[in-house]
Amino acid sequence: MSVRYGVKLRKKHEEIRRKQKQVYLCPKCGKLKVKRIDFAQWTCKACGVVFAGGAFEPFTSIGAAAGKTSV
Ligand SMILES: [Zn+2]
Repeated sequence: MSVRYGVKLRKKHEEIRRKQKQVYLCPKCGKLKVKRIDFAQWTCKACGVVFAGGAFEPFTSIGAAAGKTSV
């Protein structure tokens, strides 16, 4: 029983790790070059824009609603 619980936790952890490693579309230049540099901090390797987003994803529904673009 405890084994099943552990697997579930690891799966969730892997999902977060994959999201952190994933590259995302840049809101400024549109290239697939956005990477996470710090907690909720994202940068585009193509145009160099740095912006705040979600902890594990650059764009969350909350962030979009707040309109956090400082460009
Ligand atoms: Zn860019």
